[in-house]
Amino acid sequence: MKIIMLGAPGAGKGTQAKMIADKYQIPHVSTGDIFRANIKNGTELGKKAKTYMDAGELVPDELTVDLLMDRISQPDCANGYVLDGFPRTIPQAECLEKALEERQEAVDFAIDVEVPDDSIIKRMSGRRACLNCGATYHIVHIPTKVEGICDRCGSPLVLRDDDRPETVKNRLAVYHQQTRPLIDFYSSRKVLHEVDGTQSMEKVFADIVKVLGE
Ligand code: ADP
Ligand code: ADP
Ligand code: ZN
Repeated sequence: MKIIMLGAPGAGKGTQAKMIADKYQIPHVSTGDIFRANIKNGTELGKKAKTYMDAGELVPDELTVDLLMDRISQPDCANGYVLDGFPRTIPQAECLEKALEERQEAVDFAIDVEVPDDSIIKRMSGRRACLNCGATYHIVHIPTKVEGICDRCGSPLVLRDDDRPETVKNRLAVYHQQTRPLIDFYSSRKVLHEVDGTQSMEKVFADIVKVLGE
């Protein structure tokens, strides 16, 4: 099962992707998490990516596409995966489609998690992220058991550098300009499914399970 998560920054893609990965036993592949791991480890890629990320811009396709292709060629992705944060541009989607076509494969589901922009701004200021395992929480809506500590792995949580309101506004503009066109792209491939992301995390997941099957 090859699944793509679409939606604005902060729509809940990562939250839902983690739940999908657990239920269907497929890897959760997040390009944002891969970049953040590289930043944390001080790699060349991380240094390059950070300047774009902190400005709320997309990391150039040249730095992103090969990285993702390598990841989904790993043995654990043989039975499928859930992609979170990739593709984010039409050229990325075309590269993915071409690479899959070469293996007579295709994306099975593109899940669009819909949340209006004004709710996004509110959500992001309360987001807290674990840079160790990629889990995200919300100080009001999805709190951790112990304040500031990841439920999954026990690491301290952070407010991401790019979750400041000014940066979030730019990320939303970038989303509408560069990523939103993917809705039409996957609709024309007949794999697009929209879910209402303003519902509780559990209700959103239940709607996704209706699409993917039990
Ligand atoms: P969010 O969870 O808010 O959607 P991500 O963690 O997916 O954010 O991404 C954080 C940042 O990493 C993006 O704003 C962008 O700079 C960069 N990034 C992640 N994935 C991609 C991608 N597929 N193409 C270009 N840039 C990306
Ligand atoms: P994305 O990966 O799309 O950027 P996240 O999954 O990181 O989004 O979620 C963004 C923020 O909203 C996080 O703080 C997360 O805990 C919170 N969140 C996720 N789903 C919901 C929901 N259904 N209702 C309220 N808050 C949510
Ligand atoms: Zn964690």
